[in-house]
Amino acid sequence: MLVMKFGGTSVGSSERIKALVKLVVSEQNKIVVLSAMAGTTNSLVEICNSLYNKETEKANQQINSLEEKYFQEIQKLYTTNENRERGKELIKSHFDYLRSFTQDMFTLFEERAVLAQGELISTAMFHFYLKEININSILLPALNFMRIDENDEPDYISIKENLNKELEKYPNQKLFITQGYICRNAFGEIDNLKRGGSDYTASIIGGVLKAKEIQIWTDIDGMHNNDPRIVEGTKPIAKLSFDEAAELAYFGAKILHPQSVFPAQQNHVPVRLKNTMQPEAEGTIISDHSDGTGIKAIAAKDDITAIKIKSGRMLLAYGFLRKVFEVFEIYKTSIDMITTSEVAVSLTIDNNKNIAEITQELEKFGQVEIDENLTIICIVGDLVAESKGLALTIFDALKNIPVRMISYGGSTHNISVLIKTENKKEALNALHKKLF
Ligand code: ADP
Ligand code: ASP
Ligand code: MG
Repeated sequence: MLVMKFGGTSVGSSERIKALVKLVVSEQNKIVVLSAMAGTTNSLVEICNSLYNKETEKANQQINSLEEKYFQEIQKLYTTNENRERGKELIKSHFDYLRSFTQDMFTLFEERAVLAQGELISTAMFHFYLKEININSILLPALNFMRIDENDEPDYISIKENLNKELEKYPNQKLFITQGYICRNAFGEIDNLKRGGSDYTASIIGGVLKAKEIQIWTDIDGMHNNDPRIVEGTKPIAKLSFDEAAELAYFGAKILHPQSVFPAQQNHVPVRLKNTMQPEAEGTIISDHSDGTGIKAIAAKDDITAIKIKSGRMLLAYGFLRKVFEVFEIYKTSIDMITTSEVAVSLTIDNNKNIAEITQELEKFGQVEIDENLTIICIVGDLVAESKGLALTIFDALKNIPVRMISYGGSTHNISVLIKTENKKEALNALHKKLF
């Protein structure tokens, strides 16, 4: 089994959807995971905001204008009038559903149902297109098998069982299509795997089925050695280890959802990053094996908050750090970086939801300082052999930029530096120049 995931731009227009056919049709058994068409999830988020704010008029306008875009794509995608009509009906049913939310109370529950529409529409459109051109495929509803538990973690046992049940219904089928991103939660409600979550869907499916390979098809020729949106002249990396790719994804390389490497890694299923606009480009292969030593790439993660707890009295007493960590555990907030000194401990979090409660708890241990709008710059590679002088090179590159925290030695493939977000562009460019 092969798992192929196509992101928003890869299904972003009728032409792009048509272009997928030659990529997915072959003798190989495969599950094709689709994102919503580019821009759709953002539009759905805006519609949700209007509905939350009870701006019914605005919500209706937003819904109608998104629907109109889909009507235009339908006209171009299908050839016969009959199919165009059926396509239009399909779109209309999803948008009538969205319009129904303008009448009622709007809560988180409804929001998740709204956000799910993008993937439901794109997969239905593609499935119906394949039918029009006489290619057999099965549309597998992700809501029948993709589940998260009460901690928002994939429920692998139930996913495996339910997905296999779905697949067993069609023993002679080769081509399956399913929705990325969407799932059910522990209460059976519609939920999602957070923004960019279609990568995660593909990796979870590939992992539980122990697929031959998971392919992430997107709009760029693989993982680049720096953020191409910010730095000019970045280059694709041919090979990465799972650990290196996981660090890059977690620390901001948008090409992969932050958690998406883990299920593939657990099951030793290689992940290949490919470009739909340039399928012949080599891309990146992520597997158990790395490619040589040295620095491979740089990534940056924004919206970081640093918390400093000053406590001369207690800091080095045993048990102190445990008490600090317990506070974060209670509020389900994970810690990214940590540094300690004789009189204070500093750590960073990327989720500010419970910052007020966390601060209040931590104040029991000492004086607490909060610093927001920070960015973690993460330098990734196999850093053992070339570690001599590496820190010097990095700090030389950053010599004009104030550094708030450093994390070095936690693993052999990551050095992290915390800076103000306003210095990110300069830091990424300066490091790129020095390191590559
Ligand atoms: P998709 O919609 O296919 O999931 P995304 O927009 O989520 O695509 O991810 C691809 C984008 O990630 C690229 O267009 C690029 O701008 C961005 N990106 C950020 N960092 C990197 C990186 N290190 N390597 C490649 N792409 C990156
Ligand atoms: N459509 C979702 C998003 O835009 C999921 C994805 O594209 O991976 O976040
Ligand atoms: Mg993405």
